[in-house]
Amino acid sequence: MNYNGINFDTYFKNYPDKNGYYGKYGGAYIPYNLKAAMDEITDAYYTICKSSKFISELRKIRREFQGRPTPISYLERLSGTLGNAQLYVKREDLNHSGAHKLNHCMGEVLLAKYMGKHKVIAETGAGQHGVALATAAAYFGLKCDIYMGSVDIKKQAPNVARMKILGANVIEVTEGLQTLKEAVDAAFEAYANEYKDCIYCIGSVVGPHPFPMMVRDFQAVVGVEAREQFLSMTGELPDAVVACVGGGSNSMGIFSGFLNDPVDIYGVEPLGRGPKLGDHAASITYGSEGVMHGFNSIMLKDEDGEPAPVYSVASGLDYPSSGPEHAFLHDLGRVKYDVIDDNDSIDAFFALSRLEGIIPAIESAHAVAYGMKLAKEIGRGSILINLSGRGDKDMDYIIEHYGIR
Ligand SMILES: *Cc1c(COP(=O)(O)O)cnc(C)c1O
Repeated sequence: MNYNGINFDTYFKNYPDKNGYYGKYGGAYIPYNLKAAMDEITDAYYTICKSSKFISELRKIRREFQGRPTPISYLERLSGTLGNAQLYVKREDLNHSGAHKLNHCMGEVLLAKYMGKHKVIAETGAGQHGVALATAAAYFGLKCDIYMGSVDIKKQAPNVARMKILGANVIEVTEGLQTLKEAVDAAFEAYANEYKDCIYCIGSVVGPHPFPMMVRDFQAVVGVEAREQFLSMTGELPDAVVACVGGGSNSMGIFSGFLNDPVDIYGVEPLGRGPKLGDHAASITYGSEGVMHGFNSIMLKDEDGEPAPVYSVASGLDYPSSGPEHAFLHDLGRVKYDVIDDNDSIDAFFALSRLEGIIPAIESAHAVAYGMKLAKEIGRGSILINLSGRGDKDMDYIIEHYGIR
C-alpha cells in the first residue's frame, strides 16, 4: 500500500534506515563513551535476532512463560451502549505480569544472554518497567540493576518490593528532583562504566538507536497476532485500531500489524487536566521537534528548550516525548494522534470493568475511552483497541481518588 509517497509493502525493510532514522526523527545522540556500547548492541541485534535459534527460543518463551498468544475479546455489552459500531480488545492485560512490557523485556534480556552479558541495567519511574525487567532477569538468571529516584521509591513501594522479591538490585538516585530524569542519567552513567558486562534495557520505543527499532520489533508480535485473530474471528480486518501512547511501545506493537492495510489507526495521548503546559503529556499533539534522552522526536519543552514537566493520571503515560517512529507516522498522516483527559479515562475504566468484567490499567483506559468516543462518532464498523495492561496496580489510587462507582 502506498501512503503519501511511502510504500508500506517494504516499510519495515526501510524504516529505520541504518543510522536509526525514520525520516528526520530518531538517530543516536549520545556521548562518545556510549557510542561503542550502542554499536555493539546494534550489531548483535542485527545478527542474533535473525538467527533461528534466537527466534525459536523467544517463541517458546512467549508460549510457555508469557502465555501468548493473548486473545481478542469482543465487547458486546459495552458496544451495545454506544450505537452500531462494535468494539474489540486485544488482551495484553493477560500477558504474564499484567502488561505488554514483558514482550520487549523478555526479548531484551534474551539478547543480553546471547551476547554473553551477566547483567541488565535500566531506570524506572512508576516501577512498571523495572518490574517487567526484573521478571525477565529472574527468568534468565541474570543480575538486574534498577535505578530509581528517591521520590519514586517512596511513591511506588509495592513495585519496589516486587523488584526486590524478583532479585533485582534497586539503586536509589538522590540527585535533583529525584525522579525519572535523574534515574535515566544515573543509569546511563552506570552503563557507560559497566557496558562490557551488561546491557541497558530501555522500556519503550524511545532512546537512541537501536532501541526504538528493537522494542518495536519485540512488540510487533501483538500486531501480528491481532491481525490473524481478527481475520479468523470476523473474516475481515477491523475498520480502526486504537492504542494509548506514552513512550509508544504497546501502540507501535499493534500498529505494526496494520500499517500496510486499509485500516484507520489512532494513537491516544493523555490530556491529563487540560491543554496547559504542565497539565498533560500529549507530546505529539502539542509538542515540537527536539532532542532528548538520545533521540530526535517531537517533545514538550519549557521556555529553556528543556523537557517540560508533564502530568497524567496514568503514570505510565507521563513522558514528555514519544518514540521517533510515532513522530514520523504523525507527520506522514498514517496515524492520527488525539487526546483523552483524566476524567474520560476514569469513566472508561469503570465502564469496561462493570460492563465487561475487565479491569483495565488507567493507561489502557485512555484507549478504551477513545474507542468509545470513536464508536459514537463513526456509528458503524469495528474498532480494535489494544488493552495494554490490567488495573490491579491502580486499585489503591482509584479507591483513594475516585471511590467505587
Ligand atoms: C508503561 C505502560 C504504558 C505506556 O507505555 P508505552 O510504551 O506507550 O506502551 C501503557 N500501558 C501500560 C499498561 C503500561 O504499563
